[in-house]
Amino acid sequence: MRRARPRHGRCASPARPAPARARSALALALLPLLAALLLALPSSAFSLRPPHDTRTLSDAQVSALLNLPPEPWKAVDAGHMEHLLVERVSGTPGNKKVQNYLSSVFTKLGWHVETDTFSASTPHGEVEFTNLIYTFDAAAPRKLVLAAHFDSKWFAEGGFIGATDSAAPVAFLLDTAEALTPLLSARRARVAAGAPLLTAHLDEGEAAETSLQIVLFDGEEAFQAWTATDSVYGSRHLAAKWETTYLAPELQRRRQSPTPTVLDGIDVLVLLDLLGAPNPALQSHYRGTDWLFDALASADARVRPLTNSSGEWFAAQRGWGGGIDDDHRPFLTRGVPVLHLIANPFPEVWHRMADNKDALDLETCRRWCAVMRVFVAEYLHLAPDDGVVRREDRSEEPQGRAGESASRGPLTPVSDL
Ligand SMILES: [Zn+2]
Repeated sequence: MRRARPRHGRCASPARPAPARARSALALALLPLLAALLLALPSSAFSLRPPHDTRTLSDAQVSALLNLPPEPWKAVDAGHMEHLLVERVSGTPGNKKVQNYLSSVFTKLGWHVETDTFSASTPHGEVEFTNLIYTFDAAAPRKLVLAAHFDSKWFAEGGFIGATDSAAPVAFLLDTAEALTPLLSARRARVAAGAPLLTAHLDEGEAAETSLQIVLFDGEEAFQAWTATDSVYGSRHLAAKWETTYLAPELQRRRQSPTPTVLDGIDVLVLLDLLGAPNPALQSHYRGTDWLFDALASADARVRPLTNSSGEWFAAQRGWGGGIDDDHRPFLTRGVPVLHLIANPFPEVWHRMADNKDALDLETCRRWCAVMRVFVAEYLHLAPDDGVVRREDRSEEPQGRAGESASRGPLTPVSDL
């Protein structure tokens, strides 16, 4: 979360306050000091209360969500994975082929497809990179961003296909999109029909202001040794671009700065990397998103009995301080809240030819897909059994709210940001 900058300036106070007003004048004079003290507190002091309400699904709803198509993977190299487990070094035909495949999945789902192509100088000369940005509703003013990198690391001898790095995380996000698109579409239809109040406690017109966006970065891998300039080419480019891309007036809503940029519209960047091997250990790296890490761990605890996977993945310990560099860095330094989901320690096969389908564990991958479905559904207030407004729910509607919400009307799609 962004913290306001302290204001500098003199505080005027009466030269000779009347006795009756002396105490209130003193209190007024102390206000700037109190404000300065609050601003000096670490960000962890502000992370106790989640900045976003989530919806807790019942066990039956969790079960129903896991039963939505697509079916759980039958093999680690089946379905999407067979298209991703190939060499896909940035700037090569293999990379382009994977881009086309990924975009075909989202085009079929009816999502907004945006590509961010640019060239950058690397130790291998000028290379063309393309970030892929997929959005369910590009007209929504806020986004929950799920991200992973789709490029694979270059090795002189060739043959590296990065199954955990990061073909599997990309495949988890495809599953999330496929499973939740029907729920998001049903919500859009309800809002467009002018019936956005699903229950007395869930205004879908408001919930739909936050949409789901999946960003697949190119050029995460260094061509040589990892440095600040030979790494995360795609995320550095996209974060810098979005920092100076201002939102159109119709996309500006509540809780935003007077001149919001695309970055201001990101609720949180959830970055997945190095996942798919069995028994991952994950830590919460940033105090501001501890509460989201807890939400993820809660989702995992509830899906675990429904999968054949066991063991605790999410560490209770806090204060890791985000010591692992990755695609989130250019966003984090610009004030975007980050949830970094990376196995730490890294998988044993990291940056070895053995990072292939044999490094992936079927039950672990299925559990990741299940966890992400529940986590994202609860964040976006989606449930598999949401449908027409039930009579008993309508009777709970407080006076005035239904008409108030409906008056906002359907969201207007725009072509691009
Ligand atoms: Zn890597």
